[in-house]
Amino acid sequence: MSDPDTRPHIDYAALAGDIKRWAIELGFADAGISGTDLGADEQHLERWLDDGHHGEMEYMARHGAKRSRPAELEPGTQRVISVRMDYIPPGTANAWGVIEDAEAGYVARYALGRDYHKLMRSRLQKLADRIHSVVGDFGYRAYVDSAPVLEKALARNAGLGWIGKHTVLINKRAGSYFFLGELYTDLPLPVDPPASAHCGSCNRCIDICPTQAIVGPYRLDARRCISYLTIELKGSIPEALRAPMGNRIFGCDDCQLICPWNKFAQETTEPDFAPRHSLDGAKLIDLFGWSEEEFLKRTEGMAIRRTGYEGWLRNIAVALGNAPTSAAVTAALEAQAEHVSPVVREHVQWALARHHR
Ligand code: SF4
Repeated sequence: MSDPDTRPHIDYAALAGDIKRWAIELGFADAGISGTDLGADEQHLERWLDDGHHGEMEYMARHGAKRSRPAELEPGTQRVISVRMDYIPPGTANAWGVIEDAEAGYVARYALGRDYHKLMRSRLQKLADRIHSVVGDFGYRAYVDSAPVLEKALARNAGLGWIGKHTVLINKRAGSYFFLGELYTDLPLPVDPPASAHCGSCNRCIDICPTQAIVGPYRLDARRCISYLTIELKGSIPEALRAPMGNRIFGCDDCQLICPWNKFAQETTEPDFAPRHSLDGAKLIDLFGWSEEEFLKRTEGMAIRRTGYEGWLRNIAVALGNAPTSAAVTAALEAQAEHVSPVVREHVQWALARHHR
């Protein structure tokens, strides 16, 4: 971070307004500014980790207090500029329609197009460049979905929304289908008021979760969450959770789909987030037929790559085990019954057993 004392006189209130305007011009839906105090959220995080709710995501436990103390992660940080970007592409297949079509594979709506990390980071860099053009050298660091950052708490403190009972950020005017990014900075900008919470007595997300992963309001046991099971977990998916997964092959949106605030969700204007390879409603059998080469080629630059080819086949095998029995489904499974991966073989056997009962 730079030495603030060497900066010329700066009207920080005007600069804060400019930063929010520039953020919108760069394609973000919203921007807000918070301080760095995350005391209560630090305790919430510690309890979550103590309960083991992070599962195999060991990176969540790394970094110690740096996660909840921005100035320890990036010395000199005084403020955090949080931004959000809507991701639902216009014309996407109806999500409930896909979930109810047991022959189709459901992919979380954020993952249908290009991976957002690079795009968001480059926009944040452009925002930093614009600030630099006005204030000269200043300290900053951009983060997008980074493990050491409590991004939802920071965004809430910046007024961008509240953390719902499903632990996702919700904006009163835009629902919850958006990405978050942050610019840590040493500029002493005026902070925005935090957003107030509006879940009230609603419990719809808790009730609908297919695997009952929301174990209480604001408490998510990631080990049961379909997003974790289909993306983060390597190896075998616990058998008891396979049937409730239904046809969800990469992530899950049920807790957001049911949330009444998403009637205010905004569509993205970002062409990069448009669905690729008809992944907003593709047939399981077609996806299961992708070779490793096809998987790697087709998912280049997409978040879906994270599950790896083995995870991809494992997830689709589970969904095919939950699909209606047909000659085509059993033939597709049998074609992979001798797959070189023991994980894939085991899930294919489980799926075949479901059809041979
Ligand atoms: S479904 Fe209801 S309880 Fe859950 S996040 Fe939305 S408003 Fe809150």
